Amino acid sequence: MPPQMAIMHLGQAFQNFFAGLAEYPTFKTKGRHDSVTLTNDPFTVKGQTVHIPQLGWVRMHESLRFVGKVLDGTISRTADRWFLSVTVEIPDPPRILRENQAVGGVDLGVSALATLSTGEKIAGPKAYAAALKTLRPLYQHFSRQMEAANVGAGLKPGKPIPKGMHIPWSENRRETQRRIARLHARIANIRADALHQLTHYLVDRFDVIAIEDLHVAGMLKNHKLARAIADMGLGELRRQLEYKAAQRGKTVVVVSRWYPSSKTCSTCGHKVPKMSLSVRTWICPQCQTHHDRDVNAAVNLRTVAESSMGGGCPSGPA
Ligand SMILES: [Zn+2]
Repeated sequence: MPPQMAIMHLGQAFQNFFAGLAEYPTFKTKGRHDSVTLTNDPFTVKGQTVHIPQLGWVRMHESLRFVGKVLDGTISRTADRWFLSVTVEIPDPPRILRENQAVGGVDLGVSALATLSTGEKIAGPKAYAAALKTLRPLYQHFSRQMEAANVGAGLKPGKPIPKGMHIPWSENRRETQRRIARLHARIANIRADALHQLTHYLVDRFDVIAIEDLHVAGMLKNHKLARAIADMGLGELRRQLEYKAAQRGKTVVVVSRWYPSSKTCSTCGHKVPKMSLSVRTWICPQCQTHHDRDVNAAVNLRTVAESSMGGGCPSGPA
C-alpha cells in the first residue's frame, strides 16, 4: 500500500542526492521523472518528517496514514514536486473476529462516567451529586432539631442522653428523618439507574467490551479520587457489565491495570513516560496526533481486546 506524500522544501539537497546516487540501479533518466528506491538504506518516518540517509530530516506535506512496519520507500519527482511513496506492512486483523463483531473499549473515568473508543462520552449522573448536596443540610437540620429537643428536656448542648431517659420526637423531627430516608433511596435509585442504563447500552452496542481493571481498593486511598470513584460505583458497574454480557453471550475483556492505556499513543504506539491526571488532552511527540486522554485510553483498550481475541478461542477470554 503506497500512500504518496509530497515532500516540501527540498531544493538543491535532492539534486545533490540524486547526483550522488547516479549509479543506483533504479535511478532513471535525470530530469523528467527522477526516482530512487530506498530499500536497503533504512529511512525513518516520524510524524511529518522523514529521515533519509545522506539527506537528513525532510519535512513532508502530510504524515503517514498507515500504522505498520515500513518496508521501503521511493522518492520521485514530478515537475517541481517531490514525492515519497512508502510501502507499509499492515498486520492482518485477528481472524477470529467476525466482520459484524463490534469491539468497544470503555475507559471508566472520573471526568466522565465512561468514555468509549467510538469517542462517545457518557456523563455521570448529575442528579446524584445534586441529591448528595441536599443530603448534608438535611442532616444538619435533623441534628439541630435533636439538639433543641435535648436542651428543651434540660440537657446541656452536646451532652449525650443519659440511659433510660426518653426525649419525645417532635412531628417536625420525624418528618426530617423521613425526608433523609427518602433522599437516600433516591440517591441509590439514581445511581443504579445510571449504571444499568450504561451497562445495558454497552452490551447492546458491542459484542466484545474491553474495560480496565481499575483496582478500586488502591485508588480509594487517593483522597481526591476516592469520592468521585466511590460515587460513580465503578465496582458495581463492572459487576453489572459482566453478568449482562454473560446473559447476552457477549464478552468482557478486563485489561490489566498495569497496561499503560493512558500513556500509550493509540495511533503509533509511542509511550510517554508519565502523564498526570490533570492532563485531559495531549499531542503525541512521535506522530503528532492530538489525543483526548480518555478516548485514547478507550481506543487502546479496544486494541488490546482485539489482539487478545486473535488467540483462537471463539468466545474469547473471560
Ligand atoms: Zn503517536
